[in-house]
Amino acid sequence: MAESVAGGCLCGGVRFEATPPFLRANWCHCSRCRKHSGAAASPQARVPRDAFRLLAGEELVVVYRPPEGGMVKAFCRRCGSSLFGGTWPDGPEVSIRLGAFDGDPGIAPQFHTFVGSKAPWEVLPDDGLPRHETRAPRPR
Ligand SMILES: [Zn+2]
Ligand SMILES: [Zn+2]
Repeated sequence: MAESVAGGCLCGGVRFEATPPFLRANWCHCSRCRKHSGAAASPQARVPRDAFRLLAGEELVVVYRPPEGGMVKAFCRRCGSSLFGGTWPDGPEVSIRLGAFDGDPGIAPQFHTFVGSKAPWEVLPDDGLPRHETRAPRPR
């Protein structure tokens, strides 16, 4: 079994670890991820629920649920770091912001989603990764 990889928020109040292998990783360029990250896109990776452990700071994690539905944004209420998404804190998978890992989580984004709603000023990288106008086709 692979060694776990650790991460946390900027202030250090929230700490977690995940045990590879990850299920998948992507760049999401949707308007919500842009707003929440303040960046062109949000890189994230997913692990099965049982491969994830929240080690500290559960009380600091705030969940924003868009009123119109869709994926949540979970962040540290002390430092604002974007940490988790998807269906946090429930569901079979945990979506973790790649930038929240301390070191190399051992996976890099494999595809782009929601390039159809990318920021007008963003130039998509010529990285050869598949690009999806909206969400990715469901994984096998
Ligand atoms: Zn924090
Ligand atoms: Zn998104």
